[in-house]
This record gives sequence, structure tokens and C-alpha cells, in this order.
Amino acid sequence: MTMRHLFGPILSRRLGHSLGINLVPRKTCNYSCVYCQLGATGKTTGEIREHVPLEEVKEDLELFFSKPHPETDILTLIGDGEPLLFSPLGELVDFIKARYSLPTALITNGSLLALEERRRASKRVDLLLPTLDTVVEETWRKINRPWEGLSLEAYLEGLLLHRREMEGRMWAEVMVVAGVNDNDRELELLAAYLDRLRPDRIFLNLPVRPPAESWVKSPGEGFAERIRRWIPGIEGLGDEGEGKMDPSLYDTWQGWVRAVALSHPVTVDLLAASSRISPEEALERVKEMERRGEVLLILHAGKTFVRGV
Ligand code: SF4
Repeated sequence: MTMRHLFGPILSRRLGHSLGINLVPRKTCNYSCVYCQLGATGKTTGEIREHVPLEEVKEDLELFFSKPHPETDILTLIGDGEPLLFSPLGELVDFIKARYSLPTALITNGSLLALEERRRASKRVDLLLPTLDTVVEETWRKINRPWEGLSLEAYLEGLLLHRREMEGRMWAEVMVVAGVNDNDRELELLAAYLDRLRPDRIFLNLPVRPPAESWVKSPGEGFAERIRRWIPGIEGLGDEGEGKMDPSLYDTWQGWVRAVALSHPVTVDLLAASSRISPEEALERVKEMERRGEVLLILHAGKTFVRGV
């Protein structure tokens, strides 16, 4: 089955069997986060348009659900970039709600929720997962490196408004980078904002996958305890996103690896476990793919990751 804009399903601890829907081409983003696992954003963009044809996305979904398919619990709107840059988002959510009985999730950096039209487009999403790393302008510029047309103040205000207007639940995600947003002043201000936002859940994320900038590191031991002094209910993501993935939808093992690794770097161990081969054999196969220029192998935090190119 050829899926141009679908990815997975991936077994995620938080979302269950999540079928990803890619709404923008690789690295089409209005941020260039220093921790981005897709690598650096060449040029940030603020252009909201139909970056991929809506009709193709609908066709992919129809094809996926018309045939026997792996267990699917949720449809996750995402992108190899920022999905709120996809203009017909609201239309797609309406289509999904009319056709399938599955809930939708939207993983976003949230910055475009400053715009009333974007809030309206994402209002019917069942679960919104916005990233919120800082409420301090200087830190926002350092860690997220936003497109020039964005404003932190408007984004924070837009998120508060959306929280009141939206129909679904909100799970906020905080990515913490050592030496940037892990100090007590940052955490105190973030905690005060989160008190106003009142998301249903808050998750702590750490740069465990290869980041865009090599200086990016996770805060040291004991940080999880320290952040809980400011944000008591924050939950750890752990190995979230490292759930097993089903290769059976792809014609070849290599095709599956390319599709997976283009969306996010994945460990050789996970590829091996998901396809029931030994880690040694998986490593041999991805090395061969690297020789053909199809993927890149990166050693990070003691693990070998495969990144799509
Ligand atoms: S982490 Fe997300 S928001 Fe940040 S640059 Fe990468 S794709 Fe964009």
C-alpha cells in the first residue's frame, strides 16, 4: 500500500496505536528549534497554505481504511514541520469526523494559535499537544529560533484563548535543554503561566534523540525532581515514541525504515525489535542503506540512530 502522507501506526504509550498524518513537507516550519530531531530548519517560513494536496491526504486515508490495516486508535495530525501551516486543517478534521469514528490529535508548536482563524481550524481536534518550552522572550529566541513574523506574547495569549474555546483536551509538552531553560527563574515563570493555562496533562520532554545543534544536552540527574517543585504534576515522557512500529504495510523492510526515519530518528534496536530480527542484522542492513545514501547513522547518547535524508 503506497501512503504518501500517512505514517505508522506507531504504538505510543500516551496515544495508543497512532496513525500519523504528515501535513507539511520535511522541515517546513516557523521554528528552527535547537533540539529538532529532523535537523536544522534551512529557512523558517510563515506561509500558511495547502503544503500538501488535501485530496491526496483524504485518498490515503480512504485507501488505508478500505483494506485490512493494523490496529489504529487515533489519527495524529503532525508534520515533518509545523502542521498548523497546513491551511485546510479544519476541513481535514471535519472530513475525518464525518468518515471515521476515531479521535484526532494535533502535535504543534502552537505559535500560530495567535491567529483566530487557526484557532477555529483546530477547534474540533480531540487532543491538542502544544509545545511550550519557555515564556521568556530571550529564551524563546534562543531555543525555538522563531520565524520573524511571530510574537511570543501573541502566542501565549492565543494559547490561553484556545484553551477556553477548544472542544477537546490539551496536553502541554515542555522540552528542557541544559543551560537554556532549566534554571529556577525559567521554571518559576513557566509554572505561573501553566497555572493560568490549566492543561489536562503536562509532559516533560528531554532531547534524547539527535538534536539539530550538537551542543544541546539534557539537564543532569535530579532535574525531574527539581522541575516537580515548580510544576508538581509534570509527567516524564520516558521512551515515549519508542513504541514498536509495524513494518507490514510496506513492500520492503528498507522502504519502511526510510518512511520511519524520515519522520523521526529511530534507534537500530527499535527497528530490530519491531521487525523481529537481531540488532546485528538490522545494523548491517541500515549500514548498507547508508552506503546507498538513503539514511544517515548518528551516534547519540550511546545509541545508534537512523535518520532519513
Ligand atoms: S521541533 Fe518541531 S517546531 Fe521545532 S523546528 Fe522541529 S519541527 Fe519545527
